[in-house]
Amino acid sequence: MKRSSLIKPVLGGVYPMISHGKGIFLYDQTGKDYLDASSGAVTANIGHGVQKINEAMLKQASEVSYVYRSQFTSEAAEQLADKIASLTKGDLQYSFFVNSGSEATETALKIAIQYWQEQNKPQKQKIISRWMSYHGITLGALSMSGHPIRRERFSTLLESYPTISPPYYYRCPYNVDDYTYGQMCANELETAIRRIGADQIAAFIAEPIIGAAGAAIVPPDGYWERLKQICVEHDILFIADEVMTGFGRTGKILASKHWGVEPDIVTFGKGMSGGYTPIAATVMTDKVMEPIMKGSKLIIGGHTLSANPLSCAVSLAVLNYIEKHNLADRAAETGAYLIKQLQARQERFSFIGDVRGKGLLIGIEFVQNQQTKEPLPKRIDATNEIIKLGMQHGIIVYPAAAGLDGVTGAAIIIAPPLTISLGECDELLSRLDQVFYAFRAKLARE
Ligand code: PMP
Repeated sequence: MKRSSLIKPVLGGVYPMISHGKGIFLYDQTGKDYLDASSGAVTANIGHGVQKINEAMLKQASEVSYVYRSQFTSEAAEQLADKIASLTKGDLQYSFFVNSGSEATETALKIAIQYWQEQNKPQKQKIISRWMSYHGITLGALSMSGHPIRRERFSTLLESYPTISPPYYYRCPYNVDDYTYGQMCANELETAIRRIGADQIAAFIAEPIIGAAGAAIVPPDGYWERLKQICVEHDILFIADEVMTGFGRTGKILASKHWGVEPDIVTFGKGMSGGYTPIAATVMTDKVMEPIMKGSKLIIGGHTLSANPLSCAVSLAVLNYIEKHNLADRAAETGAYLIKQLQARQERFSFIGDVRGKGLLIGIEFVQNQQTKEPLPKRIDATNEIIKLGMQHGIIVYPAAAGLDGVTGAAIIIAPPLTISLGECDELLSRLDQVFYAFRAKLARE
């Protein structure tokens, strides 16, 4: 059958057309259900088909759907900015709305550079980031991303920003405890700053918990605190990319709050609208906005559909829903249950090397040997095989890169909607077991 939307399946042959969604389930046109254990791309955080959101959408559409951001503001945009400031409970006071996570991180990069320009330090233009990171697909965002597979085709167009190691303790090459390894990785930032020169560097960017480029790598305690300290000491801005982790996904509204660290700029996307509409945000502290307000008085950048009132109203309804139903706390509870149950499966399935994560951002890394942590052979294509088996068994999981080089490892992310109940967690585990049994049978045939 001809399909013109250019939406391609990850894997040849599997091409379901979804007819509708409800809660944690999606249904295709044949009536088959899929338990959405990845919330799409870690996005459908309040689940599918929530009536309250449809009502908010209809209400805003009947008032006004579009105004241009440099001509008007809207009640929806102002209320959304206030909601973000109140939910994040700190210094993050100013939101600049865009349409995707990539635009949000790209905007953060530009705002960081502008911040220094306004203070007569135009040479501060470099951004330091980490290997095993993903900040988006546009060229600036991809330049900051340590994701070899996504970089390789565009390598000559990219700045080579990624510089320092991720705190990937599962594959730590040294015989040290996790705290020490975290400090070693964080201290690489200081070395990089000394090499490049703080006078050249605008900011450091990182995901509080690494998502697609490492399958929910949670840093050891003390790691974020040390990074922040280095940024302050060397006078560079600290950007937290919370596009995947933001608004409850990891059991707190901001994942950076797990370590009590206050970023200067935060980016949001994905769960900010639960996938009901495209919207993302770059959010700044007073400190960042002050020189900009005194200087140019505007953010250099923006898009035709920035702060689109319809998207803002939808996002506001989604954030209200997350707050009202305490979804961050719920994610902390159900996530802890799922992680424990998945770790228990390491005994049954010898190819589960590591289960990690926080809240409902959970990574599973697959290996050939649990003791040596040797990756599965490339020809098995474990990540895609598990996704394909998931499709067959009615469970959607998300691919992630793994391995010290971000290429040789195989991993998936489990990140169901934050609304998932404990009973539904058991259904998720039971479907995943079917996938794992089928995968084990495949390995035995190899
Ligand atoms: N930052 C992070 C941490 C992400 O996970 C992603 C998307 N996976 C992005 C940025 C880019 O977001 P988008 O795909 O909406 O452009």
